[in-house]
Amino acid sequence: MTQPRALDETHLLSELRDLVAGLRHHLEEERATGLEGWPKGSGPSRKKAPPSPPPSSPSLTLEGVREELGDCRRCKLHSTRKNIVFGTGNPRAKLVFVGEGPGRDEDLQGKPFVGLAGQLLTKIIQAIQLTREEVYIANIIKCRPPGNRNPEPDEIQSCEPFLRKQLQVIRPGLICALGTFAAQTLLQTEERISLLRGRFHRYQGIPLMPTYHPAYLLRNPNFKRDVWEDMKKIKIEYDLL
Ligand code: URA
Repeated sequence: MTQPRALDETHLLSELRDLVAGLRHHLEEERATGLEGWPKGSGPSRKKAPPSPPPSSPSLTLEGVREELGDCRRCKLHSTRKNIVFGTGNPRAKLVFVGEGPGRDEDLQGKPFVGLAGQLLTKIIQAIQLTREEVYIANIIKCRPPGNRNPEPDEIQSCEPFLRKQLQVIRPGLICALGTFAAQTLLQTEERISLLRGRFHRYQGIPLMPTYHPAYLLRNPNFKRDVWEDMKKIKIEYDLL
């Protein structure tokens, strides 16, 4: 009887040690990147200074944004897409995941992250005790680029205002950018994802954590550990919102 308990305690202590080390690392990184103090200090006082969300637009709704998008023909992707992939999930989500753009499955179903990478994203979300219904999932661009090529600058330029409006409506407390493309586009940087990930940045005042794209993890499972580290940081901040 005492053996399992001793094991439990050892396990718990080691988890606590990891957690403290992770928090220390996180605070050191915030200090190093000038993000120290977001949202002010730590502990209960953090609730007094929530991250400043983008200006709210009371009349704006997700349905309104969708309506404005219409049967979009603002860029050349309209001619090859099957469906516009607007985004799915909770309109009041505290956490929004942003991917790159629809792939084949998403184009066919009109929903983001429903293919193999999507199944992995679902597991990642569940690993922090959330569901897809609790969060919101969208992409930088809403139409599939032919052959899954990278979105081009004019396509992003046409599409990004709609993502920005979606985020203005939802006003999440946190954003997770999935992969190089989403992270670099939202943060307006060319920095590598391996250097961006692991610490919070800001998009329109909202703390944003870049991490590896689930499709990249399918090809490089060794990086799942890094994503887990990033998700733990997201979960800590999520629980404080
Ligand atoms: N990859 C993305 O970036 N977005 C999706 O919706 C699906 C796969």
